[in-house]
Amino acid sequence: MIVLCAHRLYTPREEILNPLLFIEDGRISSVSSRTEREIPAQATVLDFTRDFPDAILAPGFVDIHMHGGAGVDVMRASLAELQHLNKFLTTHGVTGYFPTTVAAPLDQTCTALERIADAIEAAQGPRAGNGDQAQALPLGIHLEGPFLSHKRRGVHPPENLIEPTLEIFERLWQAARGHVRMITIAPELPGAIEVIAEAARRKICVSIGHSDATIKTAHAAVEAGARHATHTFNAMRPLDHREPGILGEALTSEQLSADIIADGIHVAPEIVKLFLRAKGVERAVLITDATAAAGMPDGTYQLGPIQVEVKNGRCTVHGEPDGKLAGSVLTMDRAVRNVTRFSHWSLRDAVRAATLNPTAATGLRQHGQITAGAEANIVVLSPNGEIRRTMVRGG
Ligand SMILES: [Zn+2]
Repeated sequence: MIVLCAHRLYTPREEILNPLLFIEDGRISSVSSRTEREIPAQATVLDFTRDFPDAILAPGFVDIHMHGGAGVDVMRASLAELQHLNKFLTTHGVTGYFPTTVAAPLDQTCTALERIADAIEAAQGPRAGNGDQAQALPLGIHLEGPFLSHKRRGVHPPENLIEPTLEIFERLWQAARGHVRMITIAPELPGAIEVIAEAARRKICVSIGHSDATIKTAHAAVEAGARHATHTFNAMRPLDHREPGILGEALTSEQLSADIIADGIHVAPEIVKLFLRAKGVERAVLITDATAAAGMPDGTYQLGPIQVEVKNGRCTVHGEPDGKLAGSVLTMDRAVRNVTRFSHWSLRDAVRAATLNPTAATGLRQHGQITAGAEANIVVLSPNGEIRRTMVRGG
């Protein structure tokens, strides 16, 4: 048995002062405060207040929209490269994530899905020996495309966009061996509503995005089972007060959670604030949409089939004069800190948007919260949201 001690703990629904967190076999067995329980004599004690008197325990961050980092692109990565990425992610507090696809030729996408499915299954197995650096877990696949709007495609190559059909959806599902957890889809495309209904039936989190939908179509998507919206404001029909469109639905529907790229580049800080007010502490989700360039120096990197160029924190399509944004170099810990800077949200609420909210949106019950029975995926934070330590399954 391992017992973690700190100054404070975010479950994140609640806050516990002087917490004791008990871990057995990589899972959380119980949580209490020092005033309620003694530390058993045989337990291994990790008291983080020794080095950091103000240490905060929180669930590990879960990034549901991530294309890569540390020079690794998830569409092309080998198992060893993915492990390198997984170690990098823990240095930013991430303990679980969805490798996210980019619209590519269908064969290439299927090959990538097979490889990512291998990595997900490998991560489900027993952990490597003690003393290894913690590695973030790929928890499921996010299909960003190929069912996206031409008009709102962002940098997804137009030749790789496809009209949704159940046949193509089935082919992607088979290639991923059922590990698809999330799909971003433009609901206005012919055939989209049918695919949304089928994906929802398979318990996939259906997220509307890369879309030029009117409010009526966005509403029909929710009726069919859509429950989330992808990088709110980016690659969406702009808000209009008479035709609020997909944004009107994403911001106001109580049936939809929604995510945002809080890097201060994709969306202005004031709009992040507006988004947080609209979605509230229960439905706002932080994502990075990070590319292989995250954590790397300025230069040229691969994003699925696209080459991207990074300069001063902006990630744009290589060689395009208009410099369309192509993913980010954001990390989850910075997204959390940005939220506390851009708004009046507490660190606990910002952490919730990076933990419980994304896992609740995607049905991952073992992740994103500190509760008995959940996997012991934990970050140790400073009161400013700096990462002090990350643990995956208690190690
Ligand atoms: Zn993306």
